[in-house]
Amino acid sequence: MYLKSLELQGFKSFPDKIELKFNKGITAVVGPNGSGKSNIGDAMRWVMGEQSSKALRGEKMAGVIFHGTQTRPKAPFAQVTITIDNEDGALEYDSDTVSVSRKLYRNGDSFYMINGKEVNLKDIVELFMDTGLGRDGYSIIGQGRIADIVNGKSNDRREIFEEAAGISKFRSKKKEAEKK
Ligand code: ATP
Ligand code: MG
Repeated sequence: MYLKSLELQGFKSFPDKIELKFNKGITAVVGPNGSGKSNIGDAMRWVMGEQSSKALRGEKMAGVIFHGTQTRPKAPFAQVTITIDNEDGALEYDSDTVSVSRKLYRNGDSFYMINGKEVNLKDIVELFMDTGLGRDGYSIIGQGRIADIVNGKSNDRREIFEEAAGISKFRSKKKEAEKK
């Protein structure tokens, strides 16, 4: 499994539709301060279902929508699509490539899609669970996260190890069953 591309439109500092293509191996994103490097990481977390605007360095979720400049109008929506190569079947989804999209309008309307089919947030969270990817996965290590892990409560730390061991799904399913 590897990240093939990331498409952004109207997300933070990216008003126009752009596609970033990645290859297997290491990609470094470089640029001056404030040029949007961290926004790319935010976009990845957002499309994988992040619900905390603070985690995305904003106050409200609508803050991810391009807010315009003196010369450009604000965007009506933000949309991000991540495309993952799934030839090794690491994602439990019967397709060699899996695209996940999220779209948010200014009025709060919000949509998630997997391979073009509308789904719920829960489906996105489940898709990435135990893969290391996802909004709570350890594959995105934000600034300060290492300190959080080291200084965190033992329960929070345990969640990280459960995700790495691939058993988060079972705990989540158990919790769900208990609710019913
Ligand atoms: P550094 O090297 O300092 O970490 P960076 O390349 O990581 O910088 P980012 O934090 O990704 O920079 O980008 C910050 C820029 O994104 C700021 O100029 C900010 O105004 C812009 N930005 C954030 N949200 C929006 C938005 N909704 N609309 C337009 N621009 C936005
Ligand atoms: Mg940054």
